[in-house]
Amino acid sequence: MASAKVYTLEQVNQHNKEGDLWLVVNNDVYDLSSFADMHPGGAGVLLAADIAGQDASTAFFSLHRSEVLAKYTRLKIGRLDTTAPAPYPILAAGELSPVPHAEPDWLNPKFRSPYYGESHRALQRSMRKFFDDEVKAEARAGELSGDRPTADLVQKMGQPEWDLHAMRMGPGKHLAGKTLPGGVKGEDFDYFHELVVIQELVRVGAPGWQAGCQAGMVIGLPPVLNFGDESMKKRVLPDIFAGKKFISLAISEPQAGSDVQGITTTAKLSEDGKHWIVSGMKKWITNGYFSDYFMTAVRTGPKSLTMMLIERDDSVETRKIRTSYSSAAGTAYVFFESTKVPVENVLGGEGNGLKVILSNFNHERWVICCRIARYSRLMFEETWKWAHLRKSQGKRLIDQPVVRNKLAKMIYKCDMGQTWLENITYQMTHMSYADQSALLAGPMALLKTFLSRSAGEISDDCVQIWGGRGITQGGMGALIEQFQRTYKFDSILGGSEEVLADLGVRQAMKRMPQAVL
Ligand SMILES: Cc1cc2nc3c(=O)[nH]c(=O)nc-3n(C[C@H](O)[C@H](O)[C@H](O)COP(=O)(O)OP(=O)(O)OC[C@H]3O[C@@H](n4cnc5c(N)ncnc54)[C@H](O)[C@@H]3O)c2cc1C
Repeated sequence: MASAKVYTLEQVNQHNKEGDLWLVVNNDVYDLSSFADMHPGGAGVLLAADIAGQDASTAFFSLHRSEVLAKYTRLKIGRLDTTAPAPYPILAAGELSPVPHAEPDWLNPKFRSPYYGESHRALQRSMRKFFDDEVKAEARAGELSGDRPTADLVQKMGQPEWDLHAMRMGPGKHLAGKTLPGGVKGEDFDYFHELVVIQELVRVGAPGWQAGCQAGMVIGLPPVLNFGDESMKKRVLPDIFAGKKFISLAISEPQAGSDVQGITTTAKLSEDGKHWIVSGMKKWITNGYFSDYFMTAVRTGPKSLTMMLIERDDSVETRKIRTSYSSAAGTAYVFFESTKVPVENVLGGEGNGLKVILSNFNHERWVICCRIARYSRLMFEETWKWAHLRKSQGKRLIDQPVVRNKLAKMIYKCDMGQTWLENITYQMTHMSYADQSALLAGPMALLKTFLSRSAGEISDDCVQIWGGRGITQGGMGALIEQFQRTYKFDSILGGSEEVLADLGVRQAMKRMPQAVL
């Protein structure tokens, strides 16, 4: 095989002109003779004296992401005759990043954590490898193209080997009897396992695509799990967990966003009392464009909201909404026009819609917290690496105190957010659901506000350090540009920052005893 051939640097040096152009990157020898004219940066840079026929590793990695190398393996003709390690090691699938602070502390082999045991670590290793190997490339491509996750991949995630969709619903009876990745027993799966799954998935760095990958299920399915009867569970759960069907949560309307009480989609009981007839529209429904089921909040009386499972039929129309992240999310308007819904599809009883909605808010917000904390850290990692690679006026960016100061702020925001998140997660694993609602709703709301505010500040500092590349789609700064365009989702979805900050304070006020100074 050509790639097994070994060349000395002197041999490579001979091939340094137009039509006969070799160079070395990371100890591999590439023949660019016929590629130079197709080089997006022009042939000229490749023919420069310090590039043509030379070891161009430093120049290459200061201008290209490592994925580019994988794209051009066909140009590789052999290895450099050296025993030295590659100057810029590229992580293998599944590996932990050796970059300081790029992983949460519990993944640092030298650090201890009271929260994570061997089963969390085994799950983390499995998920990291799976997402690196099988998901990341499709996710990043889909984020750009707007193509929703392929049926093959979504269904693969649902196979018993991975059971990803079921795990994303958190601990519960739906996992009983299963052996999950890393050998985790379904009965042992706790909120830290769920945190691991969410944070590993976020690392693929494709927020809209990831939303397209059953995010509707994470918020739309809990009422079935918590309030559905056995026949509904049997009918609905298997296909969703297998990745064959999708479900959305359909609450928001043009006039009812933060103010859920403003819902105007109405349901009227049919004369025979067997169906609700639903008419109205929903807005911004994640996965709505392709969902099979809609967990829908409807008005059943002037002061009465009811939650019901609506199955897609010809009376349901969906229309895509373009937002700042990828259309792969399938964000949509959903129109119901006299849609017939069997009365058995009501969840939690007529008039109890608000209770059903509120019962899932904490978990939804916690999921968002897990996501922001890890996504922000990924941006820190990208920026930290960039600050070491990029030179300006003869110095690396990391050598500038002002850049180091920005990085310091990123590190402490990431670590504060993760540490607070782990504390709340620990409380969740030890509290009854009722106690969680009473005692954690406030802290969770404040944590989400803190994390989304921090994400904004981290994004701002990242973009400054990346310069033009931080606001350019594609290329080296692609993830940073994407982050500054999409971090805001998490400050609005699941409760806007202002609403949540206020909730956090009002919850604390409820517990205020008579106290004097
Ligand atoms: C991409 C995307 C996906 C979504 N997915 C879903 C989904 O799957 N299902 C679903 O049902 N909904 C979904 N939504 C809707 C989302 O939940 C709402 O956007 C959110 O509830 C805010 O409502 P709004 O946009 O109408 O803003 P408004 O309610 O109009 O609020 C706008 C702003 O007003 C301020 N504000 C509002 N109320 C208060 C208050 N009480 N105190 C202080 N300030 C206040 C806040 O600054 C707030 O950000 C999605 C939205 C987007 C953009």
